[in-house]
Amino acid sequence: MAHIYQICSQCVMDTSDSNIAFDESGVCDHCNGFKSDVLPNWHPNERGASIFREIADEIKLLGIGKEFDCIIGMSGGLDSSYLLHLAVTQFGLRPLVFHVDGGWNTDIAVNNIQVLVEKLGLELYTEVINWEEMRDFQLSFFKSGVPHLDLPQDHAFVATLYHFANKHNIKVILNGGNYSTECVRNPLEWLYYGTDMAQIRDIHHRFGTMPLRTYPFSSVLFHKVYLRYLKGVKVVKPLNYLPYTKDMASKTLAETYGWQPYPQKHFESRFTRFYEGYWLPTRFGYDTRRVQFSSLILTGQMTREKAIELLKKPAFNPATIDEDFEYIATKLRISVDELRGYHQMPLKSYRDYKNREWMFNLGAKVLKTLGVERALKR
Ligand SMILES: [Zn+2]
Repeated sequence: MAHIYQICSQCVMDTSDSNIAFDESGVCDHCNGFKSDVLPNWHPNERGASIFREIADEIKLLGIGKEFDCIIGMSGGLDSSYLLHLAVTQFGLRPLVFHVDGGWNTDIAVNNIQVLVEKLGLELYTEVINWEEMRDFQLSFFKSGVPHLDLPQDHAFVATLYHFANKHNIKVILNGGNYSTECVRNPLEWLYYGTDMAQIRDIHHRFGTMPLRTYPFSSVLFHKVYLRYLKGVKVVKPLNYLPYTKDMASKTLAETYGWQPYPQKHFESRFTRFYEGYWLPTRFGYDTRRVQFSSLILTGQMTREKAIELLKKPAFNPATIDEDFEYIATKLRISVDELRGYHQMPLKSYRDYKNREWMFNLGAKVLKTLGVERALKR
């Protein structure tokens, strides 16, 4: 089938998202979904703030007599950093703050986490993932040829969060997810569901070389069913109730803590910087900046002209890309040629391996019907 190139007339999503649909005025389904599903239910103003104050009071009440009243996972990125700042300074919450060290932290991220935790007088729990297992898991994803190479990192973050919440008997998870910078979601074919254990097992079974004995796994049944419904653990996204913009948050964190910004969302990890900045766009034509900039356009934080101008330049630095290849290959203990070989291999998708997409899609539809989730991955 021949594909005709088209870009949305309102945002910068285009036919690199093969499931994109345009209406008669050339506006895409991401934009139309934002207008019909997100906007009417999103109140990042005094109305939302007063709702969140009530939620915060409830969280405090639930936490009386406990060491922590909620849990926050810190990547050092903007969303989680600002969330932690707000939770402690504005709402007086007492979070357990944890960080997952998957082996790819940038120095800036380490420093950002440190300055925040120190100035807020908190203790940081760090979970270090066994590097031999992480390496084997990541290499199996490279060998599989799929786009969602970041799954081993992402899954470890998610699973550790739920295991910590369970172990410490914490009933409220504060999540930095937000419409302001993420109302357009990465298409499923770009970044597949991170907790589909059928997919994870199949890929690691075929391409892995050692058992993952200590790597933290969490199946969707454990966290979405057991923890939520049997143990009553709630996920709250405070940034959706409060005024939150990228520039304002970045400025506040810089002024208050000496927090340093990253050149791009998710670049707190050296692996993700290489993966989203170079690998995805050059191997698959998937540029996650389109998604990020489109979110900022829809929420009035960037003009479409500015986004188009920025997209003309690659997300990676051509002057240092050879060094990046060297760094990633060395760390994974493979040759640069082997790594380049994976970049050139035939393109695969999550559909080439076992998966339970139907179950995740069904779950997503239910959450949307219930109004729990408004911006869907598709
Ligand atoms: Zn659009």
